[in-house]
Order: sequence, then structure tokens, then C-alpha cells
Amino acid sequence: MQDVLDSVRRFTEGEIAPHAAEVDRSGRLPEGIFRRMGEAGLTGLAIPEKWGGVDADLATFAASLEIVGAACASTAWALLAHTMCARTLVGAGTDAQKSRLLPGLASGATIGAAMAGTEAGGGSNPMGMRTHARRDGDGWVIDGAKEFISLAGYADLFVVMARTGEAPPAIGCFLVEKTDAGFTSGRREELLGMHGVPVGGLAFANCRVGADRLLGAEAGGLMVMGMAGAWGLAGAAGAAMGIAGAALYEAGAFVKERVVAGAALATLPGVQATLGDLQMELAASRAGLAQALREIEGRKGPPLPLFRAKLAATECAVHVADRCMGLHGAAGYSRALPAERRVRDVRAFGIHWGNNEVLRDTIRKGSVA
Ligand SMILES: Cc1cc2nc3c(=O)[nH]c(=O)nc-3n(C[C@H](O)[C@H](O)[C@H](O)COP(=O)(O)OP(=O)(O)OC[C@H]3O[C@@H](n4cnc5c(N)ncnc54)[C@H](O)[C@@H]3O)c2cc1C
Repeated sequence: MQDVLDSVRRFTEGEIAPHAAEVDRSGRLPEGIFRRMGEAGLTGLAIPEKWGGVDADLATFAASLEIVGAACASTAWALLAHTMCARTLVGAGTDAQKSRLLPGLASGATIGAAMAGTEAGGGSNPMGMRTHARRDGDGWVIDGAKEFISLAGYADLFVVMARTGEAPPAIGCFLVEKTDAGFTSGRREELLGMHGVPVGGLAFANCRVGADRLLGAEAGGLMVMGMAGAWGLAGAAGAAMGIAGAALYEAGAFVKERVVAGAALATLPGVQATLGDLQMELAASRAGLAQALREIEGRKGPPLPLFRAKLAATECAVHVADRCMGLHGAAGYSRALPAERRVRDVRAFGIHWGNNEVLRDTIRKGSVA
């Protein structure tokens, strides 16, 4: 674990952190970043060595995302979407699908994105989706549209959820490549934060794919999603805590420098208490995630402890980033410093990778069942 994290830290310091502000300003990830992340092992973190990956465990993955997230939230988000694609393949792919696709995903030559679920009718209820896939000869034809999909127009390979049956209702997962006829990406969304991540629509118009593109069982889409779910939750928790940790570090440095009424802000008991409380909150979230990862090890079924840990970590991170921006005064609200970017970026982790309100609902139901 330590070797992997050392390598992630070195790469992040050299290749990700220096570009973070520009990524936010320009709305573009650095040219060739996936290839370079591949060389440093980041794109293969969750892929077994047999297919060219690093085979890191969930705790190492979350800690890696924390390092990357502290430097650049957009890069962490893109890496998470890519990793989710890889994990669905590791969990549900056939040997042929794995050997065809995983080496490219591990090296960063192929950029993956998963899951493509959300539609105009709502993202929090997958069973309501309209995009459908019907059998046609030995393949499938997909029709419909998705929205708010991470890496739309950027990734090479998408894991797309589509209805495969109506009675009983069924959802399947399909591997769709950017060159597939009938597949296009639509308008890019203008977002509050995560400016470096293209997030937008996908459209399927008579998009014909072979039988080998079905990932998992015909009606097993939710199961495929569940197989990768823990990676999304742990990665999101890690990245959000990375953003909060960076915000805290920057606020700590700022209050030492900033002199008000003849004394550095850091000497004020109120400021010290605020920083102390924020450190305590963040440490509790880290401990909560580590505990949840231990609890779910080897267990089947929905990872309820991880639902709680992701919810707690991402809510804490929003609070920490906001309070840290506040400690900067007006400077915190200015684009000249990273504090405001941290606030804009961190909020997205409560919306996706397990919507926090939906997690709350699931936790509530689980705790009274
Ligand atoms: C930056 C970004 C990237 C994204 N990338 C992807 C992607 O790659 N793939 C993808 O499929 N989606 C993606 N999404 C979409 C995201 O998954 C959805 O926004 C999310 O699932 C909620 O769906 P919705 O926005 O349609 O909200 P709705 O389903 O309309 O729900 C609206 C709100 O109602 C509340 N709510 C809904 N259901 C419940 C419930 N059961 N209990 C309590 N409250 C509830 C929640 O507050 C929810 O946010 C992305 C979103 C963002 C912001």
C-alpha cells in the first residue's frame, strides 16, 4: 500500500497539482493526462495485475483519491469514473471482455466512464429509465438518451444502463464505444464546479452493438452497478476528504500570514477553535471510512457501513471547505485563491457516486428493518 501511495503522491505533485487552477479555468483536463496516469499506475489501481493493473485494495484506492482530490478535484472525478468502468468489467465481464478491454484501461490508452444511468426523467430511480436495448439477431439495438454523464464526449468506452425488459422490468449494462454507429454525445453542461470534467448527454439512435457488449446478465444491470458501487462510494469519500484536507491546510497557512488589528488571525482563540474543530471532524470522517471498509470486507449485499461513511465524509467535506473559505474573508471568495474552487468542487460528491439524500433514505430504511 505504501509504495502505491508514494507513487500516487509523486505523480500528483509533479503532474496534477501544478495544472489544477488552469484545469478549473480552462475547463479542460491536461492533454494526455490519462496516458501519464497510466504510466504511474493510477488508471490501473483497481485492475488486477493479470490485466496490467496495480490490484490495489479499496482502502488504498480511497487514499489515492484523497491525494489526487487534494490537488485537483476534476482529475480525481475523472479517475473515479474511469475506475468504475474498470471495476464493472472486473466484476461482471467475461474473460474475453476482460482481456480485450482491461489492459487498455489499465494503461490509460482507453479512457473508461461508468455508469451512464441518469436520464431526463431522473437519476435517483434507475428503474424509471427510458433508454432501452432490444435484441436484434445476435446483438442489441440501443435507443434513448442520457444526461449528466461524466466524461461525455471524452471517454472511449462507456458502461451504459438500458431497459432490457418491461414485464418484469429489467435493466442491463452495455459496453458502448465512442466510435459505435448511432452513438453520439450531446451538449456539455455548465456546472458550478468540477470544471475540468466534461459532463453532458449521450444519445443512442438505432445504436447496434454485438452480443459481446452485454456486460453481465441481460437483467443484471443493477447487480453490475452494485459490483462497482463500493469503489464509487470509497473513492468519492476519499476525494472529498482530500479536498477538505487541502482547504484546511490552505486556511491554516492563510491565518498565520493574515494580520488583523496588529495580530495574525492564527493567534485568535476563535480561529484556533474553528481550525481545531474542522481537523477533528475530518479525522472522524477518515476513521469512519476506515472502519466501514473493515466492516464490509468479505461481506455480501449492500455495503450499508460504506453508505454511512460516504455520506458522513462528503457532508463533512462540504462543511470544512465552506468554513475554510470563510476564514479567508473576502479573499476566500476571490478566484485568486483555491478556497472558492474547493467549495464549488466538493459539493458535487454529495450529488453523484450515491446521491446523499438517497443514501440517507437507504440508511434510514436499513436501520429500521
Ligand atoms: C458533476 C456530476 C456528474 C455526474 N455524472 C454522472 C454519471 O457519470 N452517470 C450518471 O448516471 N449520472 C451522473 N450524474 C447525475 C447524478 O447521478 C444524479 O444527479 C443523481 O443520481 C440524482 O438524480 P437527478 O439529478 O435526476 O435527481 P432526481 O432523481 O430528480 O432527484 C432530485 C433530488 O431528490 C432527492 N431524492 C431523490 N430520491 C430520493 C429518495 N429516495 N430519498 C430522498 N430524497 C430523494 C435528492 O435530493 C435528489 O438529489 C452526475 C451529476 C453531477 C452533478
